[in-house]
Amino acid sequence: QQDLDAAFFIRWLTACAAAVEREAAHLTDLDAAIGDADHGSNLQRGFKAVAEVLAKDAPATPGAVLTLAGRQLISTVGGASGPLYGTLLRRTGKALGDAQSVDRERLADALGQAVAAVAQLGGAAAGDKTMLDALEPAAGALAASYEGAARAAAEGAEATTPLQARKGRASYLGERSVGHQDPGATSAALLVATLAETAGG
Ligand code: ADP
Ligand code: MG
Ligand code: MG
Repeated sequence: QQDLDAAFFIRWLTACAAAVEREAAHLTDLDAAIGDADHGSNLQRGFKAVAEVLAKDAPATPGAVLTLAGRQLISTVGGASGPLYGTLLRRTGKALGDAQSVDRERLADALGQAVAAVAQLGGAAAGDKTMLDALEPAAGALAASYEGAARAAAEGAEATTPLQARKGRASYLGERSVGHQDPGATSAALLVATLAETAGG
């Protein structure tokens, strides 16, 4: 199994910036249906800033890369997704400590802790039609494989369509939120798919 070092996480986050750029219009369309039509532009701004700071100042450990990226998301994204994804990355980084490199199991464990922190911050649980519907199954499946994590995240995102939102802006719509895929769960699946591509390529 490959060692995941600082350079790996910089490659992943830089690829996330490109993926978000490519999918921004789709993410914003999903948010237009049940939110305020800014999810794509929020993440585009945030991940562009992440890629820029990592290109300038490349931290030496996975933990430091993820912590810096999380801080950058929190300071550049005004919407709900900024602090939530920022917390996800920061808490993953914190859990990895100052290790020079980590393996997939250790990353899965760190991500699991970070997902719990996101749930606590947002007061949400899986089934509330949020990013957690993709993140929670992905963190669980990552203990076994990258491909499984990507599949679990994609399935989790698709499974938000019939749900009624209980958190975030979409919850203001009540029953009218049913029948639309959650934008945050969709972007979470994109970030996990990009992780699997980075690990496989
Ligand atoms: P905003 O709603 O402030 O415009 P975004 O559009 O960028 O922010 O992000 C919306 C996404 O954030 C939602 O689709 C949902 O997945 C996620 N989200 C919103 N509130 C919460 C919460 N309390 N817990 C977890 N995720 C949430
Ligand atoms: Mg929005
Ligand atoms: Mg907004």
